[in-house]
Amino acid sequence: MTFNIITIFPEIFNSYFNESIIKRALEKEKIKINIINLRDFATDKHKTVDDTPYGGGAGMLMKVDVLYRATRNMQHATDINNKIILLSAKGNKWSQQKAKKYSKLDNITLICGRYEGVDERIVNFINEEVSIGDYVLTGGEIGAMAITDSITRLLPGILGNETSAKDESHSIHGELEYPQYTRPEIFIDDESNEYKVPDVLLSGNHAEIEKWRENKKYTP
Ligand code: SAM
Repeated sequence: MTFNIITIFPEIFNSYFNESIIKRALEKEKIKINIINLRDFATDKHKTVDDTPYGGGAGMLMKVDVLYRATRNMQHATDINNKIILLSAKGNKWSQQKAKKYSKLDNITLICGRYEGVDERIVNFINEEVSIGDYVLTGGEIGAMAITDSITRLLPGILGNETSAKDESHSIHGELEYPQYTRPEIFIDDESNEYKVPDVLLSGNHAEIEKWRENKKYTP
């Protein structure tokens, strides 16, 4: 699967994508990530990607013509099994169910907004606006990382233990993972309070452990 990420801050992605699961997925060629600098599609000598809003108001907006050129330059961006997503605080909420659905795509293009947002005419050239939560971020880059990460974990051959993705929180809608514990068996804090691992997990009785875990899953 290929992720195309359009941004004015290409450097932001280096650190996160060069660690852990994403790094391995890239090395194994399970995914490809193209970071595209939006400024490469500006036509003036100042590489302008933003301008003031018609009607007045605070801040700047990203220009639709520059974004249009950037998305159209993407290989396969407009093919049927691809999606172009604009990160937006007013978009549809990202979820594990969406990550599952989108993990079947061949290509996904993620547009990271900045400033006060993007010229509204961009909606004519994208498939969906996606929000990663009801709050406002400074830019779409964190959202693009979240989407790339949550999809990549679901691709075949990415996680060490193939069952771990299906047991995780939200893998079934509304269901969360059971609580987990590791050593020490009893943790004592600075006020001498003791925090014990539940007895059942130390019992060695697998049927009882399974029952306990099943009961601890949260289904609204
Ligand atoms: N003026 C916009 C509004 O009120 O909705 C917020 C613009 S925000 C400062 C700049 C960019 O950050 C947005 O264009 C979008 O790409 C990204 N962004 C901010 N919050 C986001 C969220 N919750 N989910 C996804 N992207 C977000």
